[in-house]
Amino acid sequence: MQHFFTNRFEGVSEAPFASLNLGLHVNDTALHVNQNRARVKAKLGVPKLVFMDQVHGDRVVQIHSGDELPVCDAMITNVSNIALAVMVADCIPILYYDEVHQAIGVAHAGRAGTLLQVGQKCARAMTEHFGTRLQELKIWMGPSIRSCCYEVGYEATQGLESFLHVKNGNYFLDLQNANLEAFLAMGIPREHISLSEVCTCCDHAYFSYRRDKITGRFAGVIAL
Ligand SMILES: [Zn+2]
Repeated sequence: MQHFFTNRFEGVSEAPFASLNLGLHVNDTALHVNQNRARVKAKLGVPKLVFMDQVHGDRVVQIHSGDELPVCDAMITNVSNIALAVMVADCIPILYYDEVHQAIGVAHAGRAGTLLQVGQKCARAMTEHFGTRLQELKIWMGPSIRSCCYEVGYEATQGLESFLHVKNGNYFLDLQNANLEAFLAMGIPREHISLSEVCTCCDHAYFSYRRDKITGRFAGVIAL
């Protein structure tokens, strides 16, 4: 198994997408995005790299051939040499690995996905399809916007009141802890969960929608 999170460097896209933009939906030059995706695939050394058409939902799709173009926010597979990618620019990219059953997954968890429990649904899909035992599942949560920068309107805090920081009358959400606590409540051991401390809005090595609005997407990728 191999996995990593990309950053915005060593690609071919030009500003405001400079340079390793992996999103085809942000009005960057498609030729550049495809060259960037090919670079990530070459680094992985796998024949297939599957991206999702992400819609801030909770659908989990099982990947069989590696030629799928699923409309969903989570994917799982137990086929080797198929890499799964989750694109983000502030949302949490989540990667999953079941070493015992040799299965992987990815999920895209922003505020909407967190409320819909897409992260937990991806883990449960692995238990249903591959026999994954939650106490053996390993999870990586990648760079994402953190409570230092993730200010939201009051209406956006509903359902996430436990993960709210109020500073000077303004509301900031902690989506990382919302997902972490949900995974712990499922029985996934804390020592199996890796949580990046990088805030994408603070760290200019990553694309951030909140900071730049018109920008690229980086990705979490994983392959057996
Ligand atoms: Zn920040």
